Amino acid sequence: MAKKKVKIDPSACIMCGACVGSYPDDFRFSDAGPAEAVTGEADEDAVSVCPVGAISVEE
Ligand code: SF4
Repeated sequence: MAKKKVKIDPSACIMCGACVGSYPDDFRFSDAGPAEAVTGEADEDAVSVCPVGAISVEE
């Protein structure tokens, strides 16, 4: 699966851990708390694991 550039809205992230748990190579928790994309890219299906829509694909 091709990876896409993604961004996370840190103010929307509720730190549920779904993205980190499902895609540990792509996401981690930042020192400040909210999740962040490790490389700035992730499997585009990762967007759908976030219950609050904090992950978006940058076209
Ligand atoms: S799935 Fe969404 S709300 Fe949960 S940790 Fe990841 S970005 Fe935050």
